[in-house]
Amino acid sequence: MTEIYDLIVVGTGSVGSSAGYYASMKGLKVLEVDEGQPPHDQGSYHGDTRIIRHAYGENPMYVPLALRAQELWQSLEKQAQVKIFHETGVLNIGAEKSQFLSNIVISAEQYHLPIKIYDAKSANERWQQLNLPIGFEAILESRGGYLKSEDAVSAYVNQAKKVGAHQKFNTRVLAIADEHGLVHVQTNDGVFLGKHVVVTAGTWVKDLIPNLPIQPVRKVVSWFNSDQSLSERANFPAFTAETTDGNQYYGFPANDGMIKIGRHNGGQIISNREQRVQFGENSEDYDEITYFKQHVLRGVNQLHHGVSCTYDVSPDGHFIIDYVPGHKNIQVVTGLSGHGFKFASVLGEILIDRVLNIEPKYNLTAFSLSRFLK
Ligand SMILES: Cc1cc2nc3c(=O)[nH]c(=O)nc-3n(C[C@H](O)[C@H](O)[C@H](O)COP(=O)(O)OP(=O)(O)OC[C@H]3O[C@@H](n4cnc5c(N)ncnc54)[C@H](O)[C@@H]3O)c2cc1C
Repeated sequence: MTEIYDLIVVGTGSVGSSAGYYASMKGLKVLEVDEGQPPHDQGSYHGDTRIIRHAYGENPMYVPLALRAQELWQSLEKQAQVKIFHETGVLNIGAEKSQFLSNIVISAEQYHLPIKIYDAKSANERWQQLNLPIGFEAILESRGGYLKSEDAVSAYVNQAKKVGAHQKFNTRVLAIADEHGLVHVQTNDGVFLGKHVVVTAGTWVKDLIPNLPIQPVRKVVSWFNSDQSLSERANFPAFTAETTDGNQYYGFPANDGMIKIGRHNGGQIISNREQRVQFGENSEDYDEITYFKQHVLRGVNQLHHGVSCTYDVSPDGHFIIDYVPGHKNIQVVTGLSGHGFKFASVLGEILIDRVLNIEPKYNLTAFSLSRFLK
């Protein structure tokens, strides 16, 4: 007789690996499916690291999720005996009273989070590599830092396997169909049956649920040789920056003599996997960070290498955490819009609480799909 899983995870990347782990820990019979062998470099989490911030510039509504995510990352570290979180602090740079910085201050006040605000002069004195113009400021959130993203996915996948999850990797899901309450997950290697399904397929979610309002965007991120003063060892923090050229940059303290920097805005709109070409195949790739290097941060030297990646962008830049309309047994998390990794732990927990009918701990109304499908 065909096996029926309590839960099938479609896409075992950032959020899927977390959901698979929490479901397995709760004793559910779980099947994790992924088209690659996670961790791999075809999702949105490769390139070693992702920033985690709690006082949230995008919107204070994310703070409770960020704080719970932080707890879960730290308990995963203990469970898996792997270092995932580096508490380097995060320095957020921007024009005084910008929307992003104002939201950080509101978040910090509302949730009693420690932050320290520096005007341009004091920031430039405190971090001599910085060159902020008058009218700019920098807010340091000392409890933020970065996560080792590939190690985190690897830890979730390994721990889930240890507690009994079935894993079917290098297998692409082709379609999902709810047949009278039982979900048929059709892959290139057979059909699997689940009482519940979570669709956590990242950028390519529309292959499975076509009417989602999601735009895949190709992004690149680069590593540069850098001065020792920008290193984690020298206590240089991770950072985000909205600069006078109107761009949004982010970066990490240097390790092994290299600093990783990316640009959050921009990128190339794409519609299939083949268009996610390697770093350097698009001539803009080499220039993304030039303004930042020349005007904002000293000590960033020649390019070492870069990689390409993708964002799954929603129309308002906020997440979609919801049921697929008409199907209480199929959930989807998407639209993470380039800022979702830090939340992957809590998003997995939320999905599984819903599978188990556990009273929601957060108000998720703002993340509903219905805000777009009116
Ligand atoms: C360059 C870059 C920098 C970023 N920086 C940050 C940051 O500093 N902080 C932060 O919080 N976030 C950051 N993000 C965003 C964050 O990494 C993503 O939001 C997050 O990783 C998305 O998680 P996901 O689970 O939705 O998708 P993924 O982690 O990509 O997982 C999707 C999985 O689904 C699989 N899959 C897809 N389709 C199928 C199919 N049909 N069948 C089987 N498997 C399938 C894929 O192989 C993949 O493993 C960044 C993203 C990028 C690209």
